[in-house]
Amino acid sequence: MPAEVPLTGGCMCGGVRFEIGRPLGPASYCHCTRCQRRTGTAASAQARVEPGSLRVLQGSELVREYQPPAGFAKAFCSTCGSALWSRHPDEAEPFSVRLGAFDSDPGVRPGYRQFVAYACAWEEVPDDGLPRHPESGRA
Ligand SMILES: [Zn+2]
Ligand SMILES: [Zn+2]
Repeated sequence: MPAEVPLTGGCMCGGVRFEIGRPLGPASYCHCTRCQRRTGTAASAQARVEPGSLRVLQGSELVREYQPPAGFAKAFCSTCGSALWSRHPDEAEPFSVRLGAFDSDPGVRPGYRQFVAYACAWEEVPDDGLPRHPESGRA
C-alpha cells in the first residue's frame, strides 16, 4: 500500500502547506492527556517522518509551537489552530506528522496504541487488535 511521494498536506484554513518526500515511518494512536486536550478527541493519530523529508511549501510564518514543560513541541497553524506535527525540542526537524493533516492516503496505518493508561472515560479504546502500551510505545 505504498503511497505516491511526495505526500502533501496542510491545515484547515489552507495557510500552511507542506510536502513529504519520503515514505512515512511507523504510525500510532496516542491516548495521552495532552493529545486529548490538543485535539479535543479521544486519541491522536500520527506517523513518524524521516528527518529532512518534510518541507513547508507555504505558511511557515503561521506555524506556532507549544512547548510543554517536558516532551515534544506541538506545532499548529496560528490562524486556524489545526494540529500539524510534533518536534523533539533538541531537533530542528519535525518528528511525527498528524495523519489528519494529509490531503490523501498517507500510505501507513496506525500499528499500535500508546499511553492507553490515560485513555478517556467516555470512549472505550477500540477493540481493533492493535498492541496497547500503557505508556510510550516508541521503540
Ligand atoms: Zn491554518
Ligand atoms: Zn499523546
